[in-house]
Amino acid sequence: MININKSKPVMVTGATGYLAGWIIKLLLQNDITVHATVRDPNNKEKLKYLDELAKNLKGNIVYYKADLLEKHSFDEAAKKCELIFHTASPFTNTVKDPQKELIDPALQGTINVLEAVNKSDSVKRVVLTSSIAAIMGDNKDLVKLPDNMASENHWNTSSTLSHQPYSYSKTLAEKEAWKINKTQKKWQLVVINPVLVLGPGISPQISSESFKLMKQLGDGSMKIGVPNFEIGIVDVREVAQAHFNAGFMPEAEGRHIICAEPKSFLQIANLIRDDFGDKLLLPNRNLPKCLVWLAAPTVGVKRRMVARNMGYKIKIDNTKSIEKLGIKYRPVKETLIDFFSQMYENGAFNK
Ligand code: NAP
Repeated sequence: MININKSKPVMVTGATGYLAGWIIKLLLQNDITVHATVRDPNNKEKLKYLDELAKNLKGNIVYYKADLLEKHSFDEAAKKCELIFHTASPFTNTVKDPQKELIDPALQGTINVLEAVNKSDSVKRVVLTSSIAAIMGDNKDLVKLPDNMASENHWNTSSTLSHQPYSYSKTLAEKEAWKINKTQKKWQLVVINPVLVLGPGISPQISSESFKLMKQLGDGSMKIGVPNFEIGIVDVREVAQAHFNAGFMPEAEGRHIICAEPKSFLQIANLIRDDFGDKLLLPNRNLPKCLVWLAAPTVGVKRRMVARNMGYKIKIDNTKSIEKLGIKYRPVKETLIDFFSQMYENGAFNK
């Protein structure tokens, strides 16, 4: 049981991120001072929307310059904090050098943040943003699990540097965090494992992979059809709430899958068809697996990825998040409508 004093500052790494924006909003609403780490505190344009939040809500933001790849980068920001949210990590599926662009920042970044935590006399709890990707790599992985269901008891064993490197980066980073946590008794680690996060961003400039993926569904790139690929979906506001509760609930412990429901890309398109069918170029059929398998390399997708993911139904256990963190999931349709409305209004589908 750990009680976090809300009058002490709270550090959030990667403050400019899609998810971090909503976590910071919750902290500011609760009159908390946020030590926000960003790569470039001089980029006033990029921080404008966070400044706006701080102006209108009770808490304050203090910016710190920090890079995941720089040792001691987080030391100053962690001082005086009892609670740390470590959200920063590159989230992308299009990389040339997975070691340099994904593994190094995710892994070395986690080490650097936790070294800062070890140096600070005040930190009592770290909430790490991991991912469902640290639990399962490919949808086919679930075939060998009890009830074919992903739960907090499992680890991703199928991702490597050359196959699903983003998932590999999240797995290595979370494992390292648990390893470092076990070498000491001063601070506790609580982990959040979200599935694909969707829903409106606080910043109009959000560039998370979540947006890029959903943009393709509406901009005509998938008009002829979509791969029959299921993915867990959750609203960004529930993921932020899960972080907040994991930070402040005294009894929070361990890992937490945060997932509303799995859906296929076609099901996603069908859920928004009534509202956006006449505005966007939505797909209306699944493509045959053999066709997707053949064409995969021409769109930069590995055939192994298609073989091990398409056509598999997935089940994801969200019981712990409901029972222990008190998360109430809104319907996926509501998340999608809010998300696509924001993207449509911002002209995302014209670019
Ligand atoms: P995002 O909007 O791309 O945010 C990523 C953040 O990480 C940005 O603030 C970025 O800073 C920061 N970052 C990247 N490389 C960095 C570096 N070398 N040094 C310092 N900061 C760096 O992505 P997001 O969707 O909010 O993701 C946030 C976290 O949630 C990540 O850990 C991700 O793995 C996890 N997650 C996301 C999803 C999802 O569907 N979105 C699902 C599961 C887990 P800059 O602004 O300076 O680039």
